[in-house]
Amino acid sequence: MFVRHRGGAPNYQPKPLIAKHHFDPVKAWKRRHGISTKELPIAMKNLELEDQSTVQHPKVHVYFAGTGGTASKLAERLKKFLKANSGAVIGEYGCLNSFDATKIHMNDTFLSIKKLDTGEFPEGVKYSIFGLGDDAYRSTFNGAAEIIDEIYHEKLVAPLLNHKLIESDVSVENPPLKVFRQWKESIISVIDGKGEVVNNGADSLLSVNPYLRHRDLLKTFSEGAITFEPMDDIVGGILKLTIEITENDCQDMGHIRILPRNSTENVQKVMEILNLPTLDAVIDLRRYEGQIPNDDKWMGIVSTQAFLSDYVDLCEPFTTLKWAGGFPEVENISVLQVLSAFSEQLHGPSVSAELRHRILLSMPTLRPRIYSLASSNLEGTSINRIGGNNQAEILVRVLPEGRFSSTCISSLRPGDKISYKLAPNTLVLPLLPSPYLDPVGFKPTHVILIGTGTGLAPILSFLSRRLTQLIASGSNFDENSSITLFAGFRSPTIDKPDVPDDRKLFEPTFRRFSSYGLFSELYYTPSNEAKIRVQDTFETDDVKHMLLLRIIKQKAWIFVCGGAEMVKGVKDKLGEVLGEKALEQVSEEGRLLCEVF
Ligand SMILES: Cc1cc2nc3c(=O)[nH]c(=O)nc-3n(C[C@H](O)[C@H](O)[C@H](O)COP(=O)(O)OP(=O)(O)OC[C@H]3O[C@@H](n4cnc5c(N)ncnc54)[C@H](O)[C@@H]3O)c2cc1C
Repeated sequence: MFVRHRGGAPNYQPKPLIAKHHFDPVKAWKRRHGISTKELPIAMKNLELEDQSTVQHPKVHVYFAGTGGTASKLAERLKKFLKANSGAVIGEYGCLNSFDATKIHMNDTFLSIKKLDTGEFPEGVKYSIFGLGDDAYRSTFNGAAEIIDEIYHEKLVAPLLNHKLIESDVSVENPPLKVFRQWKESIISVIDGKGEVVNNGADSLLSVNPYLRHRDLLKTFSEGAITFEPMDDIVGGILKLTIEITENDCQDMGHIRILPRNSTENVQKVMEILNLPTLDAVIDLRRYEGQIPNDDKWMGIVSTQAFLSDYVDLCEPFTTLKWAGGFPEVENISVLQVLSAFSEQLHGPSVSAELRHRILLSMPTLRPRIYSLASSNLEGTSINRIGGNNQAEILVRVLPEGRFSSTCISSLRPGDKISYKLAPNTLVLPLLPSPYLDPVGFKPTHVILIGTGTGLAPILSFLSRRLTQLIASGSNFDENSSITLFAGFRSPTIDKPDVPDDRKLFEPTFRRFSSYGLFSELYYTPSNEAKIRVQDTFETDDVKHMLLLRIIKQKAWIFVCGGAEMVKGVKDKLGEVLGEKALEQVSEEGRLLCEVF
């Protein structure tokens, strides 16, 4: 069985969950007859029983959960593969919500499971969990799968494989077919009584070694030069960053992951404290948790400099301070601070290569940050211009002490390179019909866009795209002004005169789109003393009437983007204006798309 939850983003529900329970009838039969179960194979087909008719056949149950469809597709593949290649009998198959025995429901799954009696799991049940995760949500990466795993552990249900929870990362491969293949082959091998093929090496895709997994993640990243206006006390404000990309097929309104690399200065500092030579020092990633590699392959070896720059976060606390036993006690605030505190001890001759390895492999891995593309890939259109090639623009909110937005960017200069990876955004696909299908007769559906702050980034991407489409189709813009925009942004007020002014970025941009006649309605809500929020404008009679016309009569699409509180506020207000039932129907028709930052 397995689960996915894309962590920190509140709009993401617990995602794919595939469950597989293996009932071992051989052991059950032996137990019933008081015979030792210890040395028997698992698979039914290897049984040499005199009367098979009295024996319950072993069953493999496959469950999945997820909203994106990946989990169900993989579950289907697994079922077919098991049927075709093993002696297993497929038992229950379906969405985890329908798993009667545990009464699991996708959104309240985990608490209610903990309340169930252990007796609900028959003796001899085995499980294996395949988690679909996204490394950008590291703090809760594969969180739901881990919770399910814990529950089984508590209930003393035995894992089928050595790695009871197989974590795949959709940011490395989507769908993660390579890991999936290794998983299903391991399962078959165990079910058919051949035992598990053990591979803990650097090439094992089922590895739980975070550094080897990070190495696989980095293989999918590219390098691109950035340009931006130099930062000038912009904390709290928005920085427009342009990245030179090599890809041609970057999805409008898509996402980009950025690795907040450690600065050369900080890498150098750690190299000095640990007394590591700059050029020829290497680290073997396979030594994680004291493991000794059993071959001399080079596949787990990287230069220490690359490791300190791209693999680990020197600004986060160590994952463990076990290596520091015997050293004076120190607060684990960040790798840099801890190492600086121990710099004298670590320079001494008693510091072995082994200890250095332990220190390095106790550092936390570096979590990529996710941003929305604010430009369009169509004809290279961007926020301020039409034309230009292979450039992606993003709007970065500079958070106080933000690892990427503050620490990393302040160490970069325009022209420096960053490590990035483009990622599609399946949520918005219905808003992006191909522009070239029928450019002459291009008749866009009405779209209502509602965004605040950097939540306006994907909206800008959409507007750039729509503008290019209309220009390409030679349409009459006035007839085709099929966009309603509600935009909210920060701006200084009498109460808060020092707030960075986002109006300077957004107003000229929207004015430019407006000059093409792109909007049928445009509403701004900058910060204001009366604390009127974007959604409060829905209440005025004119706007209410317009929303009813567009959404109910004209079947407009709605795209909402911003923080969790804003998105909830907008949905609540839409419910009040349209009526809860009507909004529910819009939602069921898939016309309400919400992206939460
Ligand atoms: C799908 C998606 C698209 C996104 N697009 C954008 C975008 O276009 N522009 C943009 O600026 N951000 C965007 N974000 C949010 C961005 O990924 C996070 O804010 C990210 O953590 C910033 O990284 P950082 O290293 O600067 O800050 P971190 O070091 O990760 O965080 C610094 C501090 O800020 C807090 N924090 C982090 N994120 C948020 C948040 N969303 N709201 C409030 N507090 C927060 C943290 O808890 C921490 O205390 C997006 C998020 C998602 C899920």
